[in-house]
Amino acid sequence: MTATTTTLPAARPGTWARFGRNQLAVAGGLILAAVALLAIAAPLLPLPDPNATDLPNRLAPVFSAGHLLGADHLGRDMLSRIVWGTRVSLAVGLIAAVTAAVIGSTIGIVAGFCGRWVDGVLMRAIDMLMAFPYLLLALAIVAALGPGLLNALFAISIVNIPFFARAVRGVTVGLKRRDYVAAARLSGQGNLTILTGEILPNLLPVIVITFSTTLGWMILETAGLSFLGLGAQPPQADLGSMLGEGRSLLLVAPHIALIPGLVILLVVIGINLVGDGIRDLVDPRLASGGLVRPGPATAVACDAIRQQAGNPAAPDAILSVRNLRTHFLLNEERYKAVDDVSFDLRPGECLGIVGESGSGKSVTALSLLGLVPTPPGVIVGGSIRYRGQELLGLPLPKLQELRGNRIAFIFQDPLGTLNPLMTVGEQIVETITRHQGVTHAEALTHAIGLMDRVRIPNARDRASAYPHELSGGQRQRIGIAMALANDPDIIIADEPTTALDVTIQAEVLKLLQDLRRERDTALLFITHDFGVVSELCDRVMVMYAGRIVETGTTAEVLRDPRHPYTRRLMACVPVLGQPERALDAIPGLPPAVNHLPPGCHFADRCDRVIDRCRIGSIPLEDLGPGRSSRCIRAFEP
Ligand code: ADP
Ligand code: MG
Repeated sequence: MTATTTTLPAARPGTWARFGRNQLAVAGGLILAAVALLAIAAPLLPLPDPNATDLPNRLAPVFSAGHLLGADHLGRDMLSRIVWGTRVSLAVGLIAAVTAAVIGSTIGIVAGFCGRWVDGVLMRAIDMLMAFPYLLLALAIVAALGPGLLNALFAISIVNIPFFARAVRGVTVGLKRRDYVAAARLSGQGNLTILTGEILPNLLPVIVITFSTTLGWMILETAGLSFLGLGAQPPQADLGSMLGEGRSLLLVAPHIALIPGLVILLVVIGINLVGDGIRDLVDPRLASGGLVRPGPATAVACDAIRQQAGNPAAPDAILSVRNLRTHFLLNEERYKAVDDVSFDLRPGECLGIVGESGSGKSVTALSLLGLVPTPPGVIVGGSIRYRGQELLGLPLPKLQELRGNRIAFIFQDPLGTLNPLMTVGEQIVETITRHQGVTHAEALTHAIGLMDRVRIPNARDRASAYPHELSGGQRQRIGIAMALANDPDIIIADEPTTALDVTIQAEVLKLLQDLRRERDTALLFITHDFGVVSELCDRVMVMYAGRIVETGTTAEVLRDPRHPYTRRLMACVPVLGQPERALDAIPGLPPAVNHLPPGCHFADRCDRVIDRCRIGSIPLEDLGPGRSSRCIRAFEP
């Protein structure tokens, strides 16, 4: 059992498998492989000399005896010329691309890493190259150096250097400021070791992507120069010069121009498809369905809406959730992140959702306002009622009317959710004016009042500070101020204190507690820490692998936990004055929610497991009003 659950989570497919799923990239790869194989094998193939003239057979059509693809105006064999010509074009394009990549990336890395005057000098030089239309620049370079394949190669390398230099410099500047580079510096590493050990590996994806997307373009440019007679010189064939020679005979013998044209088309399409495939592979944000931008609200399956009628809401609850099921559909796998979750929230009440990381707490909270990204998230069932109004399937404008207004959110990472380019005061003002018809000045006064309220010292001055100018605790208070801005009925707080140190955590908790008492706001508080629950929450709901495993009032659950998982979670909280108490970390890992074992999902990690735990589905046992446990041994002492 354990073996299967530990092997299955590695559901992320390997690099080749993911490339293989991209059918276009595979098709491009096959075309490219076929063309490249022919070009490489040219000396071994039984082909006539590509430059041998055979005047009696000039302009022989395709499929004529001795000339499978016909012959050109000098009677030279087209098949042989096209194979040898492709070889030349591919080689020149590839060498030019590698040269441009190496020189351009080096310039970019040095400029980005050294900064100051080095950066200034190098980038202005690059700017000068970029100031000319690059095909004109290439023409000018070849005109100066004289026509010839080697000079065309130089020209194309030079005009492509800026693309690499610009892309690489930009990323290097960003990487240089990362913490792990600072850490490497602190550990005593020199510039060269940092460059090669820390920065270069992180730059490779950028270089590879730039390379794969410009290679096709460079082969086209080589062909272009040869077409104009500036690249390959007669009698040598390359794709561009063959196209140029065939141009004047287009009406008499179209195959002479068509065949090299077709090969250029195939090569460039092949390279571009493979390049796109590599980019999707290297940049994970673009891969696995991420190519599609998530919509403004979570998709709701039609079935879910049809089933809502049979879900009565509790009359005194402000928020009633019934049988909520939110799944992620990724790579033909179904991740049941939230499965069959029901709860009620009453005005002024604080309900805690507790569970390890990955147990589905955030997805539950985000589902309430349709904030789970689609794709891959879909709400496949259940009902969410706010003041009796069904929220699942509600039109987007109505949902947006509730978001941040009647139901507000406080996120775990305040730096990630605040706009770095706007002052914190303006961000609170924006929240206010979005939902209330007030002037900017009124909103600003209100915003400063809110900042005072969440105890930001000197609020009037701090309103014009940017998020990075505040401490972590102050930023989290701005998050709370924004949540309070429109006097919401419900505040959902998703681990709001996890990123804070203990003293600030205590202050933030006290602040939330006071606000709840003053305004009768309902609070849905998500945490993995039972210590925080005991301070703040009236009732608690324990989640494991997307399901509720225990509910009850905080006092009852703390005094007498009825699920072994709850007991283990509580054992993780240190108690002041009991230093000898062992802090039992829970052994093992939560199961992957795409392959849940039958029976109790906690069975593999449970110290009270019996055979019956692994059979069928374990229901949530009712243990009295508001008290339940998903354990078949819940009634045992
Ligand atoms: P937590 O309880 O720590 O808040 P979450 O609710 O964030 O856990 O996640 C529950 C499960 O849903 C996890 O297994 C996670 O991998 C999965 N999940 C969350 N967000 C996404 C997403 N955008 N795409 C795919 N899977 C996700
Ligand atoms: Mg979370």
